Amino acid sequence: MRTANILLVGDELLNGTRRDAHLPFLAGALAGAGVAVRGCAVAGDDEASIADIVRAHARTADVVIVCGGLGPTTDDVTREGVARALDRPLALDEEALARLEAFFARTGLTLYPATRRQAYVPSGAETIPNAVGSAPGFLVETGGCRLFVLPGPPRELQAMTNDFVVPRLRRVFNEAPLFTRTFRTAGLGESALAALLEPLYGRFVMFRFASLPARGRVDIVAAAAPGAAIDTSWDELAAALELELRNLLGPALYGTGDVTLEHVVGDLLAGKNMTLAIAESLTGGYMAKQLTDVPGSSRYLLASVVAYADEAKHTFLGVREETLREHGAVSSAVCLEMAEGARLRTGATLALAATGIAGPTGGTPEKPVGLCFFGLSWEGGADIRERVFSGTRADVRERVANASLLMLYEKLIEET
Ligand code: ATP
Repeated sequence: MRTANILLVGDELLNGTRRDAHLPFLAGALAGAGVAVRGCAVAGDDEASIADIVRAHARTADVVIVCGGLGPTTDDVTREGVARALDRPLALDEEALARLEAFFARTGLTLYPATRRQAYVPSGAETIPNAVGSAPGFLVETGGCRLFVLPGPPRELQAMTNDFVVPRLRRVFNEAPLFTRTFRTAGLGESALAALLEPLYGRFVMFRFASLPARGRVDIVAAAAPGAAIDTSWDELAAALELELRNLLGPALYGTGDVTLEHVVGDLLAGKNMTLAIAESLTGGYMAKQLTDVPGSSRYLLASVVAYADEAKHTFLGVREETLREHGAVSSAVCLEMAEGARLRTGATLALAATGIAGPTGGTPEKPVGLCFFGLSWEGGADIRERVFSGTRADVRERVANASLLMLYEKLIEET
């Protein structure tokens, strides 16, 4: 299997002012060319550190991608670091300079002398055109390793990877894409899933499994194990695995690949000709945002009322004043009236509601931070649940929204 190392360059990545966006993108793009990322390092804007890491990386992988630090300012020293690692001088690439001049003429920007540095590459390197920005990248071969050096802005790096790096690797390596399949589950914790699935993993040794929990859901990723010998196709093996997972997990396995739970819930609602309304308090519109992220959600989502104040709960959802007075806004009784109000006032088949204390302030001994009531109303019934969610304000809001969506999913499955 072909391998790659990634070197991210920039003080901003080391001092925490920027979060890396390149590794997840590059890992996926390189997998498409049959190249597995084996390591990733971060260097500050320092020529010697860049040179040291490039030398070490190039000895241990077929491909090295160096990201960032190709700009015109004095802290952009990646080309010097790479030249030092390769022990080659920087030389002006006339074609790159012509493209740079054309870019500045086209965009009406001033080409300062310092910017001309961007047309210098280590001698023997091939420049990589940049269709969306000024700094060209370059490709240089050293001791059997292909070293791609790309600018840091994600838009530029991504375009150059898609247009140049991946096609080039496909051509020279001619490797099949790395096989991975993601199985998406909801409603079972990571440990419960592991207990159910361990025996299965032992029978599918041609895959390496990873369990990735996030937002109250767990993704199971099955990746082709390096060097695994198989006598059928990966697609057939993944289909056999999916069948067994479905038998074990039932509807907790809600989809595969890129599908989201919001998508699945939307398709179930549309398929049953059902409509939905939402009454939100502490989530402030987040539940509606999640559902409307799905294109075509107007087929089933009628409305979401963000009723934050008590008065709004009364005015817009018909929550009774005495219910608010007797139980408080964060209560099962108010949540029930919010859900019923949203359903009756919009004429939706189903309504979701959530009320709670997101924190960090506002908690009391009886009603601590994280206490939430959420649930569903339908004609002739309702189900309101109580949970205390932990974490930050953002965590609590996200968790209650996800728990509500899961309830909706379970209700729709139950009706199937
Ligand atoms: P420029 O010509 O824009 O200076 P450059 O190749 O010098 O390009 P950098 O200066 O390293 O690139 O970064 C340019 C922009 O891209 C900055 O806003 C930087 O924070 C962002 N960036 C760089 N590396 C990353 C990364 N790994 N993840 C996300 N953003 C990044």
